[in-house]
Amino acid sequence: MQEMRELRAGAGLGGHGGGNRWQMRELAKGEHFDWPIIRRALEAFVPYWKHAILVSFVILATSVGGVVPAWLTQQIIDEGIDKRRMSVVIFFTLALILTAIATGLISVLQTWLSNLIAQNVMADYRMTLFRHLQRQTVSFFASRQAGDLVSRVTNDVTAIQNVVTTTIVGFLSNLLSIAATLFMMFSMNWKLAVLAVIVVPGFVIPTQRVGRARQELQAKIQEWLSRMTVQLSESLGVSGALLIRIFNRQAAEEAQFAESNARLRDLQVRQALIGRWLFMWLGMFSSIGPALLWGYGGWLVIHHQIGLGVIVAFTTLLSRLYGPLNQLAQVHVSVLSSVALFRRIFALLDTEPEVRDGDVSIPPNSVQGQIRLEHVWFSYPSTGEAKAPQDAPVRWALKDVSLTIEPGETVALVGPSGAGKTTLLNLIPRFSDASRGQLYLDGMDVKSLTLTSLRSQMGLVPQDPFFFHDTVVNNLRLAKPDATQAEMEAACRAAQIHDTIAALPQGYETVVGERGYRLSGGERQRLAIARVLLQNPKIVLLDEATSSLDTVVERQIQEALAVLLQGRTAVMIAHRLSTILKSDKIVVMEKGRVIAVGTHHSLVHHNPLYTRLYETQFQVEP
Ligand code: ADP
Ligand code: MG
Repeated sequence: MQEMRELRAGAGLGGHGGGNRWQMRELAKGEHFDWPIIRRALEAFVPYWKHAILVSFVILATSVGGVVPAWLTQQIIDEGIDKRRMSVVIFFTLALILTAIATGLISVLQTWLSNLIAQNVMADYRMTLFRHLQRQTVSFFASRQAGDLVSRVTNDVTAIQNVVTTTIVGFLSNLLSIAATLFMMFSMNWKLAVLAVIVVPGFVIPTQRVGRARQELQAKIQEWLSRMTVQLSESLGVSGALLIRIFNRQAAEEAQFAESNARLRDLQVRQALIGRWLFMWLGMFSSIGPALLWGYGGWLVIHHQIGLGVIVAFTTLLSRLYGPLNQLAQVHVSVLSSVALFRRIFALLDTEPEVRDGDVSIPPNSVQGQIRLEHVWFSYPSTGEAKAPQDAPVRWALKDVSLTIEPGETVALVGPSGAGKTTLLNLIPRFSDASRGQLYLDGMDVKSLTLTSLRSQMGLVPQDPFFFHDTVVNNLRLAKPDATQAEMEAACRAAQIHDTIAALPQGYETVVGERGYRLSGGERQRLAIARVLLQNPKIVLLDEATSSLDTVVERQIQEALAVLLQGRTAVMIAHRLSTILKSDKIVVMEKGRVIAVGTHHSLVHHNPLYTRLYETQFQVEP
């Protein structure tokens, strides 16, 4: 129990996305400067090179604009005030104001440009990812959590914004600021400049040290916090509470809670203190630096080597040196976390679709509808955590299946759960490809056909039909984009669903789907049948629902099915006796193999598995 909790608590840490420094550090952990990844990441910026050049100039301008005021101040003091020349004072004061306005405007331009680049690159990545995901097979989605993919397309891509603003722009502007500041310092007085630079380590090193210590503390706090959250949500939930009581675990749970509680308390006190120490040190140093400047600078002024204005200018320049240096010292964290994010994005982009498109296009409505499987073997690719060891034996979902389905024939696939019925059905529209063996449609190898033309020949009624959150009309038009209202109604009438739809609040314009109007299981099935009728394919694939239906609905579905099957080749995963009895051929499957093919009468009382299924599973119709 404890181990599981730690595991889950750990899993909760893997945050990503925008700005949070701590999360960025977590991501950067164990990451390295992976040049191929960085180069590939930068390629996406190539189309925006003009913007990039412009933004570089803008950054240069802001960096220079940042040090100009120090120089202007020096002029006011040394050339104006010191020499009692009011006109000079006024001139440089105006210059100060103008500089402030100009840098303000330029910084807006910088924000606009860098966001323009970031948002464009993000949009490009989102599009590329989405397009890539559309090309993936159905089993690709089956082996992944939808939430994870969504997060890749949204969060990970959003983090690109961070790459541009923090990493690239931040790096450049800090670097240029430091260069401009140093240039200004050394051109004013090299001795004072050397003094200012000598003080640098006193600033940067403690900030880095303490920063790291704080991050480590924060990581620990986060860990204990999520441990506590997990315990809380588990022990305060009904099922967890039940488990704790039945095993008399109250005392142990309390001890565990007491531990996380105490740890959190101590860690947070330490974190508060460590921050305080840093502030004290920095506060001290930010006074010591100028103090040294005033001391040594004062000596220089007294000996007429510099004007007083130089010292004043230096004290303002000092902060423009330490701030950027500190940020520059941390830029590696954002580079590394960007590398980690891009690594994830690229890993997704590099997964080749399992099904490759063929190049022979068959004209619509030109097939006879013969389906032939020859020695077909299939195993699901192992992905992610479920990855099997190299030497593990292959788990075949289909083993050496050979089968011919003639045009117009209705074939029922029966067998216990896990026999491979769904797997077999999915091979026909090439949701996956056979690992070994061949599938033929009218004698043509399905792998040679384009996916679009192959799939346009077949209609699918899945076990649990899905409808997009959209109107009935638009869901029906998925099958035939130019369908007229009359055609849709005819299809719905044939599928025994017209009356139900007509009675909905907005009739055919009612929004259905996940968050829309809730259709019942039987209604969804019939609407799916209507959709296939509208599509009017030569081949129908159907995965019959296992849930029991009442007599009326059952009859409606049987009538809808009768229309659907007419004049088409049909492969159905059958669970109902009425469906099975209607079929021309029954294929009995077990553990990935076809163990018998025949009619109901030839199989019942002759094939033991079929007989057992008949007696126990096929619902006896009223
Ligand atoms: P049926 O439809 O007859 O119940 P399936 O075709 O769904 O059987 O499954 C056949 C075998 O393939 C089962 O052992 C099942 O565990 C396995 N299987 C099904 N889908 C997947 C998948 N997406 N990934 C890995 N194995 C799968
Ligand atoms: Mg199934």
